Order: sequence, then structure tokens, then C-alpha cells
Amino acid sequence: MSIQSFGYRDNVFCCNRTPLTDLAEKVGTPCYVYSGDAIVDNYRAYSRTLENLDHEIHYSVKANSTLGVLSLLTREGAGFDVVSGGELFRVISSGGDPKKVVFSGVGKTPSEIEYALKCGVKMFNCESEPEAHALALTAQKLNKRPDIGFRVNPDINAETHPYIATGMHEHKFGIPIREAEQIYKRFASNDHLNLVGVSCHIGSQIFDSGPFLETLDTITTLVERLKKIDIPISCLDLGGGLAVAYRDSETTPSIEKFLGQLTEKLRGENLHLILEPGRSIVGPAGVLLTRVLYRKRSDAKEFIIVDAAMNDLIRPSLYDSYHEIVPLIRSGRPKIIADIVGPICETGDFLARRREIEDSKPGEVLAVCTAGAYGFALASNYNARPRPPEVLVQNSNFKIIRERESYADLIRGESL
Ligand SMILES: *Cc1c(COP(=O)(O)O)cnc(C)c1O
Repeated sequence: MSIQSFGYRDNVFCCNRTPLTDLAEKVGTPCYVYSGDAIVDNYRAYSRTLENLDHEIHYSVKANSTLGVLSLLTREGAGFDVVSGGELFRVISSGGDPKKVVFSGVGKTPSEIEYALKCGVKMFNCESEPEAHALALTAQKLNKRPDIGFRVNPDINAETHPYIATGMHEHKFGIPIREAEQIYKRFASNDHLNLVGVSCHIGSQIFDSGPFLETLDTITTLVERLKKIDIPISCLDLGGGLAVAYRDSETTPSIEKFLGQLTEKLRGENLHLILEPGRSIVGPAGVLLTRVLYRKRSDAKEFIIVDAAMNDLIRPSLYDSYHEIVPLIRSGRPKIIADIVGPICETGDFLARRREIEDSKPGEVLAVCTAGAYGFALASNYNARPRPPEVLVQNSNFKIIRERESYADLIRGESL
């Protein structure tokens, strides 16, 4: 099974060989379960592959920003990539060092810039000239001179879902590659900014290293041109984006294989490499457990109504994405074709449509696989539903790293 750290033992679905049936009873459903061991393994696959290069791995916090997950990665020595002041606050709250944080994002607000400067983040990835000017102004006021890079839009098609492709000229991200040299020239001798880097991030869920290598060529060409005009670049940030397998039938290249050619190309270059993986570190390391509430048939159509919904996991509704869904206990009942839907009052509220699955009965628990990335991080309180708890499994112990929200949590900060 391609589903990392999760699989069946004696027809019971396990995490790190620990049956999840017990956990589902104790913690209740819906709930997210993460394998800490898988998260650490994935991180180590990156650091192993890059060990002969001058490099840093900055985990992309937006994929899963829960403190218990961040602190695991801090202990492994990871840096972080944040896209908001709130994410920076989360990193610091988890014990992370702001000096190992890269601040990316297309719309940093003045107060976020000030907060990040005061915290002393490692680098800002600027996405426009006006943003760099705003940063310079605040840096002057605070008497700082932060390291910056510009995020360059290389105009390369990452061949992924349109919502998660970011590296083409029609996307809002970065500065256009054609104007990059001129923009670097204008900021090279800025008194309040230290221009050290070039960054890019062409999209997410990328299966083929081709577009990645093409991006690397585009960027290194730019770095050489900048060198010729006395703008030395010491830091190359290639973003994240490695795909994970959401279907059992899908195969993704291993982290080692995907990065093999990249490390070959960079060997001997005098550049500090930054990668910002998110999904490939946490995605396969998590599942969402959900209990069947009702079975229902409408004409020929079968529905399995479960207690998790689009507010808990929005990826199927938002991107029409596929997640394997498996019963916690294999019953051996014949398979049916059913829509697996949540209680929210939206037709778009589904976890799977026309899915072949072992028939399930009310009370039984299902696991929605590969839900560790962009799962809880995108959860909301829509329909006034408390967000689910998150549980971390390490070795054979489990720990609740976020409590289930209560009704009181739902109205916190409100007044009549
Ligand atoms: C989202 C994002 C990433 C992480 O992408 P994954 O596909 O989760 O690896 C990295 N860098 C930036 C700037 C991002 O916006």
C-alpha cells in the first residue's frame, strides 16, 4: 500500500501498526490522525538527499500548521516557510526559531512586515517592487537591513490543477522573469535591503521533475546574468511542490529520485539552496477518521452519510480531489458504488462521489487517507461545526495535539 505508515493488520486499519479502532472510540469522530514517525521520515528523506549540498529545508507551514506538527519538525532541525504573520506566530509558539523562517506571500501587510522584522526572520521573499519598497521603509524605521530575495515567476507550466499552479505569467505570484534583471538592478544598492536571493515556487502536486529542472535552469541563468552586473546572489530558494499519491494506483517518484538531477546540477555551484516542501512531508502522514451516520438510497443512487464534512476536509469540494477511503475494519461485505457525503447543507459537500467501497453500516468508522496536508489547515466552522481534534501517533502511543472544539469555542469573541 502506498499509504505511508497506514495499512491493515488482520483486517484492522493501523497507524504505525497500532489499530485505530481504539483511538476512534477514545477520541471520537471526526478526527485527524498523524503518524509522527512518517512526518519525521519524510523530512529526513529530504535532508539525506541534500546532505552534500549547502542547504536548508524550510517546511511550508500552510500545509499543516498545528503546533504539535511544527514542534516535531523543529526538533529535526527544520526551518520554516510562512506566508502570514499568523504562521510566524505559530512557528514561534511551537518553539521554532524565527531566524530559520523565510517569509513568502504576495500580500504581506504593513503590520505583518513589522512583526517579521522585529522577530528577525531569516529572509523575505518579495513578490513585487511596491512590496520591497514597503519593506525598505519599515526596515529603515526599525533600523534593520533584512536579507531579501525576489520571487521570480518563470512562466513555466507545472502541469497540475489550475488552482495550485503558480508559475505562469497569468498568475499573481512573483515578478515576471523578463523584468527580473531590471528590478534586481533597482534594488541592488538599497540601503535598507540586503539583496541575496532568488526564489520561486511553480505550484503544488508536481509529479514530474521536468518543470522543476526547467525552472532551475531559468533561475541559474538569471543568477549568472546578475553576477555579470555585480549583483552577487548567494541563495536559491526553489519552493516546494512535490506530489504525493492520493490514489493507490498512482506512483510518485521518491523524494530522492525527484531531487536527484537537481542535486547533480547544483553540485559545485556556490549557492545556498532552500527548499520549501509542505504536502510531501505531511500529506501521506495523516488520515481523517469519520463515522458512518446513515445509509440512504435515492432511486438507484447510494449514499453513505458520514460525520465529517467539507468544513473538516475541503479538498474534494474545492479541487475535486480524490482521497482513498477505507473501512477501519474490513468486513468482507460486497462492494457498492456510493457517494460519501457529510451533513453540511451544500450539494458540494462530499468526500467522494461514485466511489467503489465495501458497504458500510451506521456506526462503522472510515479512514479518509492522505489527509495530513491542506486538511485541518483549511478546516472551518461552516454550519457552526466545531473543528475536529488532531492526534499524533508515535511508536505505538497517541497524543491529542489539538482538542476538539466546543460550542463555547464557536462563539468566542462575539457579542450581542
Ligand atoms: C504552498 C507553498 C509551498 C509548499 O507547497 P507544497 O506543494 O505543499 O510542497 C512552498 N512555498 C510556497 C511559497 C508556497 O506558497
